Amino acid sequence: MKPWYKEGLRFGCTGCGQCCTGSPGYVWLSIKEAETMADALKIPIEEFIRKYTRRVGDRLSLKEDAKNYDCVFLEGKRCSVYEVRPKQCRTFPWWNENVESVASWKETSGRCEGINHKDAPLVSLEEIEKQLS
Ligand code: SF4
Ligand code: SF4
Repeated sequence: MKPWYKEGLRFGCTGCGQCCTGSPGYVWLSIKEAETMADALKIPIEEFIRKYTRRVGDRLSLKEDAKNYDCVFLEGKRCSVYEVRPKQCRTFPWWNENVESVASWKETSGRCEGINHKDAPLVSLEEIEKQLS
């Protein structure tokens, strides 16, 4: 059976930066992603982990500002490591929990102005499924 969004969904990132701040959360990253980011910043992996990440159980998440919850890599409204940002960031808002139902997509749209934005293109089912995998 095809999902409820079989005709596609409207989304186009406006670059507002809202998904990188605003509420406590986690930006999970794998060791491989941490290595890629450390390489891009030209620092040793140990330094990258110490400066920019926190351990949560046995997982690694990027640090965030304790007051405003800005991701450690958010500069103004822009991601300072955009080219090497973790998969979690690259695939937002195409997360299973966000497209699970009409209600969850609507709820996500309250946190992301790119969803149903007037200039947003229609993203096809095929493209959405590629992002979800
Ligand atoms: S909240 Fe949505 S529109 Fe804003 S930067 Fe994030 S993905 Fe783009
Ligand atoms: S790594 Fe970049 S895209 Fe991801 S949450 Fe941080 S600032 Fe946003």
